[in-house]
Amino acid sequence: MNKFWSEMVNRTEPYVPGEQLNDPDIIKLNTNENPYPPSPRVKEAIVEELDGKLRLYPSPTADGLRLAIADTYDVSPDEVFVGNGSDEVLAFSFMAFFHPDKPIRFPNITYSFYPVYAKLFNIPYEIVRVNGDFTLPAESFFGSEGGVIMPNPNAPTSLYMELSSIETILVNNPDRVVIIDEAYIDFATASAVELVRLYENLLVIQTTSKSRSLAGMRVGYAIGHPDLIEALVRIKDSFNSYTVDRLAIAGATAAFKDREYFNSTVLKITATRNRLIHTLKEMGFHVLPSQANFVFAKHTDKAAAEIYVELKNAGILVRHFNQPEIDNYLRISVGTDEQMDSLLRKLEQLLAVDSHI
Ligand code: PMP
Repeated sequence: MNKFWSEMVNRTEPYVPGEQLNDPDIIKLNTNENPYPPSPRVKEAIVEELDGKLRLYPSPTADGLRLAIADTYDVSPDEVFVGNGSDEVLAFSFMAFFHPDKPIRFPNITYSFYPVYAKLFNIPYEIVRVNGDFTLPAESFFGSEGGVIMPNPNAPTSLYMELSSIETILVNNPDRVVIIDEAYIDFATASAVELVRLYENLLVIQTTSKSRSLAGMRVGYAIGHPDLIEALVRIKDSFNSYTVDRLAIAGATAAFKDREYFNSTVLKITATRNRLIHTLKEMGFHVLPSQANFVFAKHTDKAAAEIYVELKNAGILVRHFNQPEIDNYLRISVGTDEQMDSLLRKLEQLLAVDSHI
């Protein structure tokens, strides 16, 4: 608190991102980054853009990039909005679609940025409790006064909700916007983008940070009815005309055009994930059926907080949430096969030491 702070600053409870350690030797499995570099075409496009273009403002509507995204998802560019990371697109969406006097709904175990935005923008919210197995009860999202937001797959549980259940939520909120945050969807069964033409109240938000290895570049996007996209553009243009810079537009456009590279990276990660789940289970972990590039697991004997600290001391960083109901779980990002081997070897040591005491 400070006498110069506005009421808005006073009511904020900022989001705390996962630790970003600078040690290059650390095996970093705590923020769901992609272990592989982006497509080589990304660098080529950025270098080309650097050649004399930085003096000029970028396209305020990120036209080339919107076109590449529209081509990828078989929608039209006026159904696409692009922003500075999906976190920014989410923030704009809270401003564009949610109301200060109408509570929105999201799950109790979910992406912890949602309550942060809700407080920042003065939007009341109701928490929907997940089921005992961490799945989401679709009916509990029906008839929301203010709208709905949820990740699919959910974070940090990694669980996927079938599109048929999402459709029931859309049908039962005809006058409110339902936001499906698909940060991890490329590692899952199917995207709700295919429902966008059927439901004018659906906004799908995705990111290049995970499946396209561009977390450092900050490009996220929304796909929805042109009226929803126009609302986002109106918010952006009342805030900052150029939220996505020239290098990001060029790089992300190249990433979307290199479909072969994208497909092969996603395949590698899902194969490694499935192997990781299998081995963790053999070691006595309970692992949720992940459809993301991370797993959510707890050990039958050893506390997650202890495993977290011991792994960190050994140079392996995973995520532990000090939050009721999930404080005995670890969220582990899927890395390369070599990184997973190091993790599993270390876990084996930690657990063996314990079982000999
Ligand atoms: N949504 C979810 C569910 C996430 O886990 C993340 C990553 N922290 C984001 C959105 C934001 O991703 P970005 O801003 O990098 O696009």
